[in-house]
Amino acid sequence: MRVLVYGMDGATWRVIRPMMEKGKMRNLRSLMERGSYGVLHSLEPMISPMLWTTISSGKVPEKHGVKDFVIPSDAVKTRRIWDILEKYGKTVGIFGHMVTWPPRPIRHFMIPDVFARGPETYPPEYQFIREMAVAEAAGARSLAKYLGYVWQGVRHGFRLSSLWAAARYMAEEKLRHYGYLDTYYRKRLLKLRFQADLFVHLVRRFQPDYLFFYSNVTDACAHLYWKFHEPERFPEVTEEEVRKYGGVLEEVYEASDRALGRILKTLGPEDQVLVISDHGFQPVPQMEDTKTYVVRSEALLKALGVADRVRYVVISDRTYIRSLGNDTAFEDQLMERIRRIQIHGVPLFVTKRDKVGYVLVTVNNREASPHIDLSESVEIEGKPVPLGKLLSESDTRISGEHHPEGIIVVAGPGFKKGVEIEGASVLDITPTVLALFGIPIGRDMDGKPLTQVLADSVAEAISYVDTHDEDYTYSSEEGEYTDELKEHLRGLGYL
Ligand SMILES: [Zn+2]
Repeated sequence: MRVLVYGMDGATWRVIRPMMEKGKMRNLRSLMERGSYGVLHSLEPMISPMLWTTISSGKVPEKHGVKDFVIPSDAVKTRRIWDILEKYGKTVGIFGHMVTWPPRPIRHFMIPDVFARGPETYPPEYQFIREMAVAEAAGARSLAKYLGYVWQGVRHGFRLSSLWAAARYMAEEKLRHYGYLDTYYRKRLLKLRFQADLFVHLVRRFQPDYLFFYSNVTDACAHLYWKFHEPERFPEVTEEEVRKYGGVLEEVYEASDRALGRILKTLGPEDQVLVISDHGFQPVPQMEDTKTYVVRSEALLKALGVADRVRYVVISDRTYIRSLGNDTAFEDQLMERIRRIQIHGVPLFVTKRDKVGYVLVTVNNREASPHIDLSESVEIEGKPVPLGKLLSESDTRISGEHHPEGIIVVAGPGFKKGVEIEGASVLDITPTVLALFGIPIGRDMDGKPLTQVLADSVAEAISYVDTHDEDYTYSSEEGEYTDELKEHLRGLGYL
């Protein structure tokens, strides 16, 4: 028996139900028909890394300590489900779970999420999938580089149809002069294809007992495209926009359903499935109308003439830079040079050092944005650099926001069929998964197994221990970087 947890960040019945009435979301639908479903209640504040850590530990944030995206995995204050399962001799395959970087050796695989500080995966041969994501986030548009990763992907399960989709996208992007809203979801849909390809490959190769797959595409696109999905609530949305983007959110959900369908094919009738979201979604009551910008890191570093002296990672709107050889004096100087770039007398960027020693660069959106016109140039050390090259517009005028009611769908011989799940919480997932495996639940967990929907034989066999953390150690508070972790990062070439 195996257990799959399929994580659809931000998925909501509000989008799914009308789609199902139109005959869409067939894979999720068939799970619902052979299993049970309902609302999964979230916790405040609805911050995804915090929520997914709660989901995977069965504990409240005060106990697991995760409040941000960039916490290293070994600062989590409690064992998570895969740690517990490993202790009981089970094998696990974790794909895209938040707060899993740096990955530790595990039986069998651990591929960190989009907020990882580096490309490491376990086993290391799968690092290309993260390098590919990092290169893309940094705006490195080198086709050769990209194809290099794709080629590695071919050897590790990327399907020809996915490669074809990627090639077609790259051609279209140039031909059709795609804008931000055109590329944003298309890129993410491509990524989801590659992720599902690789996950299916990994599952077939390693056959782990516990499988976890996560994608944030349903969350990211709901923030941005909700106004086109429910245009009647947003008077400023034009008919043309509805024609172009009105179907995006459903397309994204449908793609997530297809990925689910492909993963389900790797399972057998004896296996258990849980499809869950960490929170739901709703339209925002009032939209803020401010444009923000993100830096194209590669262009900035080239304009400063230091592109070959540093390495960097991009995490959402932040660029983290380190010099090769960790030359602190050079980095200080670089920060100063970046700070001197001004637009109408206002610094264009904000720079600081983060806890680990990276130089952190963001666009000074609060003060500089009103002065930015992408058709103008800015002077960098005496030379004009077109702003359109240096920055890209980030349409953060979000129209969708988190809602406390997420989704849960369960199916498999360990579950009852046709139960309307009530009062389930993100805290209950780990106790429920442990019950399915017949492994005792920690009394220090805040959730409870969902006995309302567990098969009688599973529910009757539930047992408890005081804690699974008796011999567990973690690095110090709030993601402070300990000497041990620094040593580890140094070993990986990051410090
Ligand atoms: Zn979100």
